[in-house]
Amino acid sequence: MSRRLAVLGHPVAHSLSPIMQTAAFEALGIAGEWSYEAIDVAPEDFAGRVAALPAEGFAGVNVTVPHKLAALGLADRAGAAAAAIGAANVLVFDGEGIGAENTDAAGFLAALPGDPSGARALVLGAGGSARAVVWALVDRGAEVSVWNRTGARADELTDELGGTPIDAEQAARGDFELIVNCTTAGLPGSGVELGDLPLDPDRFRPGQTVVDLVYGDGETELVGAARRAGAELVDGREILVRQGAASLEIWTGLEPPLEAMRAAVSAA
Ligand code: NDP
Repeated sequence: MSRRLAVLGHPVAHSLSPIMQTAAFEALGIAGEWSYEAIDVAPEDFAGRVAALPAEGFAGVNVTVPHKLAALGLADRAGAAAAAIGAANVLVFDGEGIGAENTDAAGFLAALPGDPSGARALVLGAGGSARAVVWALVDRGAEVSVWNRTGARADELTDELGGTPIDAEQAARGDFELIVNCTTAGLPGSGVELGDLPLDPDRFRPGQTVVDLVYGDGETELVGAARRAGAELVDGREILVRQGAASLEIWTGLEPPLEAMRAAVSAA
């Protein structure tokens, strides 16, 4: 039976998924059967490369930027989250062709400290990760507001997935129980900073949950500001671990060893 796995991206060398998943296989005692690698695939080669993977012994793959839309397009069947979000970060190769799933949404929900049902939530961003987060929060019954630098993209996203588009002043002045950064602010090398977002760090407070999908070396500026204000935090590494754990469960059917995965990611 096929036991190879991989993450497909472009670029992908920076991905922590191989060390995280390898640590998980070791903790589960299945490292002799399962392996996980990173494969750099240019967009024009993506469909051909995916088609060749099952014959090379791959049981499935994670898919990251810029292939998540294309991955859904290649699939023979899709889970509800992938179909609604319009993107897949997991492909499964089995006897019934290619299955597409989205564990970014489930991973995000699993990382939250509590049920977001009814919570006033602010999502910053309208790109791929924001689509998964907004879908997940709307699905769970949160009251979702979406701010994006390019307002038209927030309008389109909320038209499609639900939630309400808001402007910078509404975002900065609103009282939100949950704030989720799905922009590139804080991403090393992006040149985008916390100051580019309509957030007033002086208004972060205990009782609020602040989630930053972005991670780099050490704490992001957003996580630091929220921590100093006493807010509850979820950082980008925890989001990465949770989507990886949900992926692992899909491929292997085994309970993911979260602590081993967290340890591998924080040591990297
Ligand atoms: P996209 O490229 O799809 O979206 C980027 C978003 O950032 C857009 O909303 C864009 O706004 C916004 N943005 C870019 N520049 C600026 C700026 N100067 N000021 C304000 N907003 C800006 O990216 P993804 O959604 O795929 O990823 C977003 C972030 O989340 C990335 O940093 C990524 O690393 C991280 N991520 C982390 C994951 C994890 O596992 N922890 C998983 C997925 C993503 P506009 O529309 O105006 O261009």
